[in-house]
Amino acid sequence: MASVPAETLRDSEATQDQRELTDGFNLIIDALKLNGIKTIYGVPGIPITDFGRMAQAEGIRVIAFRHEQHAGNAAAIAGYLTKQPGICLTVSAPGFLNGLTALANATTNCFPMILISGSSEREIVDLQQGDYEEMDQLAIAKPLCKAAFRVLHAEDIGVGVARAIRAAVSGRPGGVYLDLPAKLFGQVMDAEEGKNSLIKVIDPAPAQIPSAESVERALELLKSAERPLIILGKGAAYAQADDDIRALIEKTGIPFLPMSMAKGILPDTHAQCAGAARSLALKESDVVMLIGARLNWLLSQGKGKAWGGKKQFIQIDIEPREMDSNVEIAAPVVGDIGSCVAALLEGVTADAHSPSAEWVDAVKTKKETNIAKMAPRLANDNHPMDFHGALGALRTVIKERPDAILVNEGANTLDLARGIIDMYNPRKRLDVGTWGVMGIGMGFSVAAAIETGQPVLAIEGDSAFGFSGMEIETICRYNLPVCVVVFNNGGIYRGTDVNERNSDPAWTTFVSESRYDKMIEAFGGIGVNATTPEELKQAVDAAMDSGKPTLINAAINPAAGSESGRIGNLNPQSKLQKK
Ligand code: ADP
Ligand code: MG
Repeated sequence: MASVPAETLRDSEATQDQRELTDGFNLIIDALKLNGIKTIYGVPGIPITDFGRMAQAEGIRVIAFRHEQHAGNAAAIAGYLTKQPGICLTVSAPGFLNGLTALANATTNCFPMILISGSSEREIVDLQQGDYEEMDQLAIAKPLCKAAFRVLHAEDIGVGVARAIRAAVSGRPGGVYLDLPAKLFGQVMDAEEGKNSLIKVIDPAPAQIPSAESVERALELLKSAERPLIILGKGAAYAQADDDIRALIEKTGIPFLPMSMAKGILPDTHAQCAGAARSLALKESDVVMLIGARLNWLLSQGKGKAWGGKKQFIQIDIEPREMDSNVEIAAPVVGDIGSCVAALLEGVTADAHSPSAEWVDAVKTKKETNIAKMAPRLANDNHPMDFHGALGALRTVIKERPDAILVNEGANTLDLARGIIDMYNPRKRLDVGTWGVMGIGMGFSVAAAIETGQPVLAIEGDSAFGFSGMEIETICRYNLPVCVVVFNNGGIYRGTDVNERNSDPAWTTFVSESRYDKMIEAFGGIGVNATTPEELKQAVDAAMDSGKPTLINAAINPAAGSESGRIGNLNPQSKLQKK
């Protein structure tokens, strides 16, 4: 409990009895609750331990992690799944810095989250006099997030929380930093005044209606297309405009290509899905409509060989400055995806906006050929398992359990799973996103289970798993329905690299034939060692049926896997290397 200064109590004889007090602790909790915040992800410590306790006592769910980065990733993906800012709570300096990676990653990916960190005494920090965990956190956070605020007075807590929420979810969503100095928590003020100082944010992410001209321009360009293509990005998944997006695609008959986290807005098995004909679709299309996807490295910046020459682009995005960031956008449509797609839907007709039959056929033929080519590889029963055999089994799991949430990271484990595992429902695939960052696995899994109540299947490279592996204790502690499958090929990319100079292992390898399944047993979870696709499928099914925390060590051939997965071209290699 916060202490109440004696002067305040002795204030005036007349009011002393009736006067109720509140403090920073309570005001922050009240402000969050007033704005519908139900869950906080964090790690306790000075100066926030008591705050977490009190929040829990007030009915906010407080999920404690082992490292702030994973709490931050959990908050970020909670924001993506719910369109409400996910909250991450950390201690000062080092805890804050640990959370900052997740905050920056959230901002890059357009996930709304608020990193709330306790901080040390301003007076000492600013004079650099050496406080406990001294650091100018606000200044450090600023360039890495959408907005950063500090609250110094209890009566400003309402405004601080309101501004943080608005900044996180309005316009292009992103990460926000809220700095709360230790002294603030204990500040006392009149309870009634305190209550009146809080703000319930009205319409935090207002609809942004596109201009009629921009919609008209887009429809005209689409009309002129012979070989149109629609690319769906995770912005489209975030927008939760699933029905209208589907209607737009089906009404026009235009082939669509989902970016990784947009898979499932329409099922990957949909007749118009061009996923298995990606190269052809990018190269041969003439007009491309981007819905909530950026022309960044994941789309070869919209130019070069992958695109086979100049295209005309329609881009739907809430951020006006995204337009022309890489190539000319012939028809920018600025607004929220729900409003933009609804406006386009009203204007399209099957007659005017449908692709040529040849184009639809070309995409379909290519797709069927590629799928047929892949089929036997996915059904293989090689011992030891290879990536394709193991992923073939997991592909069936998701087909049979389309509501499960798939979390995915790694190099080969990521690139191959993304292509192989079909998704059937929106916002079910959570992965490394725009940065291709490793370490999101367990944080995303925890939040996905908590926010949706659905079972989670985390498909993890053995290296990727290592970044957040300790959080399996968190998964066990909260008894979450998470099944982690570690694709264990004994190393980064492969387990077979050799260092010929001395007895140290090659720096890309791990202990060979490790048993990751034994780790979870230490915390009361279920560990399984799977050596065949069949064993793997059985173990995952059992985990999903029971909902018990499970870790499956999928023993993969150490020779399987290629350097940097599918993005080996980004990894410079010396031609002068001495062998
Ligand atoms: P992907 O990696 O799947 O291609 P990106 O993260 O690159 O997706 O792009 C997502 C885009 O979606 C961003 O440019 C972002 O501004 C935009 N966006 C996010 N939410 C909305 C929304 N509700 N309405 C419109 N655009 C949005
Ligand atoms: Mg590996």
